[in-house]
Amino acid sequence: MSMHAKRSSRVDLSLWSEASRRSMLAAFPPKYYTDIHYVCYHCGGQSVFLGADQKITFEVKRQYVWQRRVLCERCKLESERLKAELRSIRKVRKERGAFAHHDRAQSERMLTLLQLLPKYALRKDTAAIRMLEKELGDVV
Ligand SMILES: [Zn+2]
Repeated sequence: MSMHAKRSSRVDLSLWSEASRRSMLAAFPPKYYTDIHYVCYHCGGQSVFLGADQKITFEVKRQYVWQRRVLCERCKLESERLKAELRSIRKVRKERGAFAHHDRAQSERMLTLLQLLPKYALRKDTAAIRMLEKELGDVV
């Protein structure tokens, strides 16, 4: 490791979030963040969580240190796009209230999004999926 890489990925515990500082990792902290190689959960592609990125993630963005990357950059962006689309559909449906189910195309799109998200390692919203399937009459 070069001197520059060492400096740029040195662990500074004092910058971790409170939750991170209470974690098991804080008891035996590494001296440096080292590159973590992983396989993307969605596309199966090889990806790397660089030591320098970890420093930014845990010390600047102050995310929890046990957090592990599961998606490559491209799939992460795609999952964020899908989540944003789902949020905007939910907002519209909330505004329409009882009339939400009148827009069948939108209900179908919402169901598709809910079924897609678990493929990006996101929580499966089973209750919402069942509700939409019932609404769309796919459940007998
Ligand atoms: Zn991927």
